[in-house]
Amino acid sequence: MSKIQMKTPLVEMDGDEMTRIIWQEIKDILLTPYIDLKTEYYDLGLVHRNETDDQVTIDSANATKKYGVAVKCATITPNAARMPEYNLKEMWKSPNGTIRAMLDGTVFRTPILVKGITPYIPTWTKPITIARHAYGDVYKNVEMKCPKGSKAELVLTDAEGNVSREQIFDFKDTAGIIQGLHNREDSIGSFARACFNYALDCKKDVWFATKDTISKKYDHTFKDIFAEIFENEYKEKFAEAGIEYFYTLIDDAVARVIRSEGGYIWACKNYDGDVMSDMVATAYGSLAMMTSVLVSPDGVYEYEAAHGTVQRHYYKHLKGEETSTNSVATLFAWTGALRKRGELDELPELMAFADKLEKATIQTIENGVMTGDLYLLSKLENKQKVNTEDFLKAVDERLKALL
Ligand code: NAP
Ligand code: MG
Repeated sequence: MSKIQMKTPLVEMDGDEMTRIIWQEIKDILLTPYIDLKTEYYDLGLVHRNETDDQVTIDSANATKKYGVAVKCATITPNAARMPEYNLKEMWKSPNGTIRAMLDGTVFRTPILVKGITPYIPTWTKPITIARHAYGDVYKNVEMKCPKGSKAELVLTDAEGNVSREQIFDFKDTAGIIQGLHNREDSIGSFARACFNYALDCKKDVWFATKDTISKKYDHTFKDIFAEIFENEYKEKFAEAGIEYFYTLIDDAVARVIRSEGGYIWACKNYDGDVMSDMVATAYGSLAMMTSVLVSPDGVYEYEAAHGTVQRHYYKHLKGEETSTNSVATLFAWTGALRKRGELDELPELMAFADKLEKATIQTIENGVMTGDLYLLSKLENKQKVNTEDFLKAVDERLKALL
């Protein structure tokens, strides 16, 4: 059988610890035997980030802008403990943060559903994709403690030097606290476009919610920007695709989400997204089954797993002990990127390969072969726990049957 040929390279961002091991195994067992894999390789492993003063992260983000599609392995975000472990020159910033800022991107997280693992909300038979606006609000706030007798005001100076003031609270008889939040219209617009583009890409409805009835300027601006961009740029495309944009209040949205069967994209303001993504991920069962894609407003895609480098398993691996680490989310990052590359380069063969590899993975788990994390959750009777590498080999058996 001849290998599938690629046209344009994918940007490949290698990473750290157990996911770096899995990365190589996925390539060796499931990709290079079938595809003449063309990638532009960037080593985002912490050792190389430190050697290059983190320039490699910036280079990889620029390459992603150039080629349009990237696949990323999980990477260590250094903390104090990592400084001596890797003999670091600096506590380098999170690569994901750097890449997201450079691409002005929005992160979409979607669970992978398999038979045998029932979500805590049994009606959720389809995945709910959470899109989190990753700029501003409480994450870029300014706060003050206010002593008794103080008075807090908002003061705004415009470009001409005109000052407008509004009282927040007069703390005449008690001490208190205040918080200043902001957001940018350009960032909200990028978020809206990323959500609408991604919805067209995967043919799913978009739900968006704020508390605009209470926050008549702040939250209402989010609602207005979404409505205006939808009306002017996406309404017709959505109608053609048979999908909808639905706006409601955040508390109503939460109630509807719980009652729903899933299957849509839930666009969330920064804080809502922080909280709801953890709730949704937990409710679907496993962080190891959650995919993540960063989408820029101009249509650049970076695919990855939502979990980290699975450090504890890596230390076992280093001691020569057997591991049973779930490779599914990392594998789906590869299939997502290959499918997108195939779509952009008009390579139906590559797209079909990605579909079959995903199907083979799901079939493997649904037939009872799974890693330890899923073994604990699965309700299948014939389930069998396998090690990291044997899982990928089992997927390969099924893949061969599908090709
Ligand atoms: P983690 O790597 O996601 O792992 C947390 C725990 O979740 C693991 O110890 C494991 O539980 C379970 N788990 C996660 N993924 C799994 C998988 N694929 N298969 C089986 N079990 C899995 O998070 P962490 O330990 O907090 O962080 C480790 C490193 O990852 C940190 O340096 C952090 O900076 C980095 N990180 C990177 C990214 C990213 O690049 N996107 C995201 C998050 C964290 P058990 O140990 O109980 O088996
Ligand atoms: Mg959170």
